[in-house]
Amino acid sequence: MSKRTNDTVVERLYVLDGGSIELDKSSMTFGHDPGQKVRVPTPIYLIKTRDDFVLFDTGWYPQAIPILESMGLKPAIDQSRVLPGVLQSLGLDVRDISKIILSHLHADHAGGIQYFPDAELIVQKDEYSYALHPHSFSQLAYLRSAIDFPSFKWRLIDGDQEIMPGLTVVLANGHTPGLQALIVELPEAGTIILASDSCYVKRNIEEEVIPGIVWNPTLALHSITKLKTLAKLLNGTVYPNHDIEFWDSLRKSPDHYR
Ligand SMILES: [Zn+2]
Repeated sequence: MSKRTNDTVVERLYVLDGGSIELDKSSMTFGHDPGQKVRVPTPIYLIKTRDDFVLFDTGWYPQAIPILESMGLKPAIDQSRVLPGVLQSLGLDVRDISKIILSHLHADHAGGIQYFPDAELIVQKDEYSYALHPHSFSQLAYLRSAIDFPSFKWRLIDGDQEIMPGLTVVLANGHTPGLQALIVELPEAGTIILASDSCYVKRNIEEEVIPGIVWNPTLALHSITKLKTLAKLLNGTVYPNHDIEFWDSLRKSPDHYR
């Protein structure tokens, strides 16, 4: 991996455990392996920058856990795996977080927004508007009570954008209308592309199979190839978001990537 030593302000990347649920394997890879069950982890990423802490996604909406249970999804999510509890293991409080980059607003990514009235919430404009007015087939994934905080400090962006040196969002939509991935440039580990749900599992990347849950399949495929192209050009690695085997291989908090 390439080393970036010049202008990144990113110092560390922590992978926090946001619990897991069980899904049919065909949810991970469109049309593949129906009838098999798989554990689906929910990572929450924390980035320590020179001046503060930034979250990439906020994990499950705790109020949704009974719904997950009633759907037979066997949630393994306790208070230590949702915000604010998940930060406490690092001795951090919600007030230590100045910015939250939201990949998209599904209930397993936007669940902690409620705890951050003072942080900047960075999301794509198309995602924000769709999340409040989804089509019927997407309604189950967006829970309005998790995201409808109009007085919070939303920063709606439109497309690819550098948030700060070393942290850049790129549009990777298809799973949802405004999904954004995050490119993290670390001083020693090099470039990591956090794909969020544009790539659920490694197989989405390696075989260019789209995830089983998509708003627009063609865009979903374009986003996979876009992130692969960026990884090649930047000499980086794409991190799939809900891959149990990949998850097991990751360095977990309090350990971290530098
Ligand atoms: Zn997800």
